[in-house]
Amino acid sequence: MPAIHWFRRDLRLADNPSLTAACANGGEVIPLYILDPAEVANKGPMGGASRWWLHESLRSLARTCAALGAPLVLRRGQPASVLKSLIEETGADTICWNRCYEPQAITRDKLLKAELADAGVTVQSFNASLLAEPWTIRNGSGEPYKVFTPFWRALSQLAPFAAPLPAPRVMKPFGKPLASDRLADWHLQPAAPDWAGGLRAKWKPGERAAATRLHDFLDVDVATYKDRRDFMSDNATSNLAPYLRWGEISPRQVWHAAAMRADADPASALGVAAFQRQLGWREFSAHLLFHWPDLVDHAWKPAYENFPWDNNETHLRAWTKGQTGYPIVDAAMRALWATGAMHNRARMIVASFLVKHLLIDWRKGADWFEDTLVDADLANNRAGWQWVAGSGADAAPYFRIFNPVLQGEKFDPSGTFVRQWVPELAGLDARFIHKPWVAPPAVLAEGGVVLGETYPHPIVTHDQARARALAAYEEVINQYADL
Ligand code: FAD
Repeated sequence: MPAIHWFRRDLRLADNPSLTAACANGGEVIPLYILDPAEVANKGPMGGASRWWLHESLRSLARTCAALGAPLVLRRGQPASVLKSLIEETGADTICWNRCYEPQAITRDKLLKAELADAGVTVQSFNASLLAEPWTIRNGSGEPYKVFTPFWRALSQLAPFAAPLPAPRVMKPFGKPLASDRLADWHLQPAAPDWAGGLRAKWKPGERAAATRLHDFLDVDVATYKDRRDFMSDNATSNLAPYLRWGEISPRQVWHAAAMRADADPASALGVAAFQRQLGWREFSAHLLFHWPDLVDHAWKPAYENFPWDNNETHLRAWTKGQTGYPIVDAAMRALWATGAMHNRARMIVASFLVKHLLIDWRKGADWFEDTLVDADLANNRAGWQWVAGSGADAAPYFRIFNPVLQGEKFDPSGTFVRQWVPELAGLDARFIHKPWVAPPAVLAEGGVVLGETYPHPIVTHDQARARALAAYEEVINQYADL
């Protein structure tokens, strides 16, 4: 009997336990990807940058599946009905998948599992996208963790994690050709206008590119990762987030390759440890989302649920377009739009600016990120936004309000990042690159900058915005304390 392997967030052949299981008995294997118009893996319809990435990733996966012998079958529709009709067509008696952990995906899979079992189909599911599944880590009282450091300690104690599996050497195809959609007919790529040029220039989706990226990072940057990871123009982080998001590489593969590097080159051990700790944050976000699924749309700390947001639409638009008048914020937002990526330090700065300087609801920022990031991930993104907003688990304290000028001066000291993404400031003296509004007129003129014409005045004043945010936070916290 043929077995179906349903690809979801595991668009790879290596270290894919479900695919390995589907191939295990040497029978026919049907590799399948279903485009679900409801896209349950995220909150709503899939964002534009994600759709672009998915197209490229499936193109690459189709090539590698074909090379192993079984063509990738693409079908669109509601997963239950797609699977049922494929079972009828093929007589498959087993469906294998790797588990997803977003709330809607869990509901979908539970229902499906029961329906398929009733129909006499065996479902086998596996862990392929986390080092440890959310229910396997509990604190001393048997509760899920709410604070990162003890979570990280508990997770680290489970190391070393299972060694990655090799890719199957061959996939025996189904006996006759199966209908498959044409990828192009899914219209995942932007056409009119085609805004994806910057994404194409920066990224090469797919399993092979993910492996190359990992090894390049380990060869070049991991040794200095701890010291350089916060500097925005250094590009010293792994850039693995989208590959992990789409499952083109597994966290076990990343973990083991990094650990082997530390063994082989002790000078890189500190960098490797700092890098592995970031993988821990990814696990922590998945843990939080699994145990508190409401954090997608609700403040994790109830005190923050009725926050007095200002939600000024003009300010929101200026933020999305990189026209706030704060160079570091604008550079980061324009880089996001152009490349589908944003450095972690920059994410913290722009998120803090939106939530605290502009008093705009973190959910609006999270929605924008989910539309524009190639690594848009419900758990990491929502937990990241709530961390910045102060409403999340183990979050930044409410009174920690990033000063965008000081952040720029510290983490982009010569202004290289700003000059790259805000070219209208490229000629400005480095002393003023993060605060052009205090530059003397002669310096502005020399740099070719006319504030209000070539580059905007700041849309809010830092000191006033900071005072307004502190007052709003304190009001909320005091009200809650009164209850
Ligand atoms: P590296 O520094 O090389 O880290 C290695 C890996 O660890 C990353 O690829 C990622 O999988 C994981 N990681 C690193 N930092 C974090 C973190 N703080 N939280 C969770 N996982 C982390 N990450 C996403 O993958 N998708 C998102 O949608 C996302 N949204 C975010 C929103 C906000 C407001 C913030 C503050 C952070 C968000 N992050 C998100 C986390 C982080 O910014 C990115 O994972 C990181 O910038 C990706 O770059 P990298 O792959 O070079 O990371």
